[in-house]
Amino acid sequence: MKIDLHLHLDGSLRPHTVWELAREQGIVLPAATEEELVSSLRVPEDCRSLTEYLERFDLPLLVLQKAEAVERVTYELVEDLSKQGLTYAEIRFAPQLSTKQGLAQKEVVQAAVRGLDRALADFPSIRAGLILCFMRGAENSVNEATLEAAKQYLGKGVLAVDLAGAEALFKTADYEELFKKVREAEVPFTIHAGEADGPESVRKALEFGTKRLGHGVRAIEDKELIEQIIRDRVTLEVCPISNLHTKLAKNVHEHPIRRLFDMGVRVTVNTDNMTVSNTCLDREYAFLKEYYGFTDAEIAAMNEYAEEAAFMKF
Ligand SMILES: [Zn+2]
Repeated sequence: MKIDLHLHLDGSLRPHTVWELAREQGIVLPAATEEELVSSLRVPEDCRSLTEYLERFDLPLLVLQKAEAVERVTYELVEDLSKQGLTYAEIRFAPQLSTKQGLAQKEVVQAAVRGLDRALADFPSIRAGLILCFMRGAENSVNEATLEAAKQYLGKGVLAVDLAGAEALFKTADYEELFKKVREAEVPFTIHAGEADGPESVRKALEFGTKRLGHGVRAIEDKELIEQIIRDRVTLEVCPISNLHTKLAKNVHEHPIRRLFDMGVRVTVNTDNMTVSNTCLDREYAFLKEYYGFTDAEIAAMNEYAEEAAFMKF
């Protein structure tokens, strides 16, 4: 069992595909060669914040404004994950970020579902589905259109919705009405919280009824909150290498994943963005073994937590 519950499509593109799509679409990239392109898609090792990290998505999104491109990259990501030996993955993206050239969000989702379905037919060793992200800072009507697309494709490729974007700038509390609608529509959800903002953000996400937290790591700053997370069996989608890049943890010694796991929090290991952070699940596992002394059995236990928290029922 090898599972990724927290993986962004636009942060996990093959650099060669970005290069080809740009050429096909006549887009001038800020890179003269494919090699240069790789370094502009990747976060620098001295990245300072989530905000700087998020800038790495501007370039991939330039080439994701056409339905065929969205279909292609979804197909390729499932192919890559299958070749890495994953048995299950939830791939997330914000359809509203691919509407700059006139696509409707539903058309973006439809294209991703086409790519997903083709890949699942070609690579039967993996199961996978999509999570549609709302964006912090977007107009309500735009996030509501994401919810409409999720309702339309729920069970047909789409598994759930999520809230992503700059957590420190746009508070989780501002999305209360939106998640009321999500609950009314009975669409499953997870929420990025406790990454760039602290316990208050996590507490709000839990109030909205989420059973999963994107990252959630900063809950550790509040003992009562951690007790609640353990008691309510909330699952943390932790992305260790990404957390170092966004400065959630200042250095490898300060990441609380070991403490969280030992306390009994349902911690899972995920990649967040394979291209941006130059990572994959094997690299995350190696990292956990090297710096925090995780054993194969403990990593297997985290994959069991992941299976139990999966939006697709096994
Ligand atoms: Zn994320």
